[in-house]
Amino acid sequence: MVSMEGVSIVIPVYNEEESILELLQGLSQFLEKNDIHHEVIVVNDGSKDRTAEIIRESGLRVELIEHGRNRGYGASLKTGIKSAQYDYVVTIDADGTYHYQDIKMLLEEAVETDMVVAARTGHHVSIPFIRRPAKWAITKLANYLTGEHIPDLNSGFRLLKKNIVNKFVKILPDGFSFTATITLAMLTNNYKIKYITTNYYKRKGKSKIRPIRDTINFVQLIARTILYFDPLKIFLPVSAIMFFASAVVFFYTLFFKEKLRDTTVLLLFLTGIILLAIGMLSDVVVKTKE
Ligand code: UDP
Ligand code: MG
Repeated sequence: MVSMEGVSIVIPVYNEEESILELLQGLSQFLEKNDIHHEVIVVNDGSKDRTAEIIRESGLRVELIEHGRNRGYGASLKTGIKSAQYDYVVTIDADGTYHYQDIKMLLEEAVETDMVVAARTGHHVSIPFIRRPAKWAITKLANYLTGEHIPDLNSGFRLLKKNIVNKFVKILPDGFSFTATITLAMLTNNYKIKYITTNYYKRKGKSKIRPIRDTINFVQLIARTILYFDPLKIFLPVSAIMFFASAVVFFYTLFFKEKLRDTTVLLLFLTGIILLAIGMLSDVVVKTKE
């Protein structure tokens, strides 16, 4: 175990009456037994069921923070991390999907790194079937944009360092894209991320993800985060496509048609130049900010 003052466990909860008690009891017992100095912070994100009552009546030593209304997964994490007293923060879902015992591994790996992610790549991983294609495509996009292999972009079980989260807090969203955004922000800023392998179980109760809306959000946020930190990664390929298309039209119409499509060629070529220029300009802006 690394030497540290302690760890703040942050648990966002929204309508998790079926699973919250079991998680809190199991987790507290586990941490005590392993002598891990800790605090547990539960952020109740405007639950409309018995979640808050169950926590209060449990008699467990947890700090319960109330969001007066439902503000989203990322917002709950930001609230929790803000009131964390330790620099090491572990986030975990309240739905019983993660193997909380792996906190030990997260802490062991926490030296000489900036974040440790419990990647859902173990033997027992039950990610709902319909989510897989979108998850696959998003991961591929993220891998390309960062030039890194990311085993799990949006695991909710990870160890963060409060001082590093604070550096990015301005751009971290309130919704489910929080995890993907902080991963991309850290990778594009040369922070180090380690991964451990964990299992992922079927959740109790209903998932709060809205598949279409949240997938669109993810793609948007990936693009925005990269634009924010590494814009050439987006502008260069698009402008390259324009140059390529311009060349294709040029040669094709020159050799195979009676009339050269000069306007199309020029338009594509100019668009390529303009995108390249905007890309380089954004790159300068990014590199000179702060
Ligand atoms: N959650 C939250 N606010 C919300 C939606 C979800 O605090 O608006 C909590 C939820 O109770 C859970 C965690 O965030 O503990 C992750 O949500 P969920 O498990 O539904 O997402 P999934 O794991 O299915 O991606
Ligand atoms: Mg979950």
